[in-house]
Amino acid sequence: MFKSGISREFESETKTVIVSAVLETTGHVRFGDGTDINITITEKDVVAGGVEKAVFAGTKRRGVDRRTMHELRNKWWDLEEEDCFIPMLCGRCPTCMLLGFTGTTQKNPLIRDINCKSRILYATAYSVQPTGDAVTTHTRNQVNERSQTTHGSAGIHTEEVIVAGTNFPTYTTLHHVLDWEIGAFAHAFLENVNQGRYTAASRAQGGMRFTEDAKGEPMIVVDVSESGVFPIPAPKVPTNVSELSEVERAFINGRDGEKLEESLKQFGFNRPPEKSSNQQENEAASSSEERADDEGKPKPKPVSIWKRRDMEFGRRYAGKDALSYLRDRQGDFLDFMSSMENGGAKAFRKGAESYYEKVKEKKKAAGE
Ligand SMILES: [Zn+2]
Repeated sequence: MFKSGISREFESETKTVIVSAVLETTGHVRFGDGTDINITITEKDVVAGGVEKAVFAGTKRRGVDRRTMHELRNKWWDLEEEDCFIPMLCGRCPTCMLLGFTGTTQKNPLIRDINCKSRILYATAYSVQPTGDAVTTHTRNQVNERSQTTHGSAGIHTEEVIVAGTNFPTYTTLHHVLDWEIGAFAHAFLENVNQGRYTAASRAQGGMRFTEDAKGEPMIVVDVSESGVFPIPAPKVPTNVSELSEVERAFINGRDGEKLEESLKQFGFNRPPEKSSNQQENEAASSSEERADDEGKPKPKPVSIWKRRDMEFGRRYAGKDALSYLRDRQGDFLDFMSSMENGGAKAFRKGAESYYEKVKEKKKAAGE
């Protein structure tokens, strides 16, 4: 079936989500997924105060994520009907409608004058450590694949790499997304970190992991709001900060329920009073998001819920609970994509087409 947050039809189910997470390199790495392996220079930028930082570009992160989403989609999507890959995007599949595409470069006349923006915004990340500590050069022998020999001194290849233990605070905002769309991002994000796909490793174990704070909690905060109201700030630090401890403090404060409650009160929002576990369970059973899990798995517990006149506006998950919230949404993505089998993909494409027809009619009416 057709279900996408892009359409007003599903407005009531859409959410805005902010994912803040610190990722740490675990070996000598370069960013990219191997398609640009010949790049020998690491991207760098001078930030406020003249400090130079290594850059983890948002566009690069989005590219790797899109490929990972495609891989999963392709398990169930009927590619015989129409293929969809970078750069020949189809514009009519679940990931195109989430991550956007430029119609002008496409063959299909239906989408040629459609310019669909991504509903997931990937911010560019800067290393906490300055490049003096974060980047080094190393040389490697270029091996001739055919003869299995090196080229001798002519084949010595110098490249810049990011060293292990370099931290990148990453921020991603998802607009107008349904649960399965949050899940598409969650799937790509969690699997790309786990499987080391954001980086091309130039030495063993080169990948990334979630940086842990002093208490062993992963530094990750996920804010979810149906109305896009976030009275508590995401745990951010200025890009010129070079101390990991400052970043850590922002994330520890970001999961401190009492501190958050103070801020919420100050801005006219209330954190609901503590309830007995029994009451909480009853309430949990009534809300669809919190319904008991089939497998008896504990539901992720929000560290904060913001309310106004008893109406909930949003909630924050932090640390392991944030990871388990994302894992739950990954499950929604798996469920949604597997429903694309046996005619599901066809129905989705039809829905996409009628959505574009409506957009075109509106454009015409507006004289565009
Ligand atoms: Zn597509």
